[in-house]
Amino acid sequence: MTESAQLAEKLDVRLHTHFAENSEDDAFSLATFGCRPTQYLEDVGWCTDRAWVAHCVMPNHDEIEQLGKAKIGVAHCPSSNMILASGIAPVVDLRAAGVHVGLGVDGSSSADSGSMWLEARQAMLLVKLRNGAAAGTARMSLEIATRGGAGCLGRVGEIGEISVGAVGDLAIWSLTGVAFAGAVADPIEAWLRCGPTGAKHTIVHGKLVVDNGQIVSNKVDSMLATHRTLAKRMQRIAD
Ligand SMILES: [Zn+2]
Repeated sequence: MTESAQLAEKLDVRLHTHFAENSEDDAFSLATFGCRPTQYLEDVGWCTDRAWVAHCVMPNHDEIEQLGKAKIGVAHCPSSNMILASGIAPVVDLRAAGVHVGLGVDGSSSADSGSMWLEARQAMLLVKLRNGAAAGTARMSLEIATRGGAGCLGRVGEIGEISVGAVGDLAIWSLTGVAFAGAVADPIEAWLRCGPTGAKHTIVHGKLVVDNGQIVSNKVDSMLATHRTLAKRMQRIAD
């Protein structure tokens, strides 16, 4: 870990690891290193704005302050945290302390779907559960999903926002149809509370990759067939 941090400094690249995911992590760190995970992170040179960490469910008050001072990034993975019963990450406190909180889907083995929209919605609902109904808003989740992620990657102003000079990334949702019937007050709240989950159009670096709900590629069917074969093979190995 120490050498990775030194190498990242030398090459000017970023650092990523899982961190403080659950109470077992705390117990392992205390038993193995004689300290809590945040102290370990500090000791090995990872408590820096060069690093972003997945989960960060278990930090206590002092550790949240310490992580905020370092301006570290956190990939908040709410679905995974619920599926694995890890706990509820202190998202509001982390953000208030200065931590860049972005969104992650964790992975197929712990969150099943790779939907960022679902993670954004789960993030909103979990903040409501932990901090009160008024604390978790769709705008907060939108900010976490966009600028928060940019902060984790050290790319604020370049990605995660629509501005002059920023990368041409856009995800466009329709706000019409049965799902949005009656949702006329606030388009952002309607977007995250009524669905639907998929974007109508998605543009990545100026290039259309989803057009009218369809992935723009003539390889989707063959890729899905290959993926299904590989998934079956992996399942057989697991069984
Ligand atoms: Zn994970």
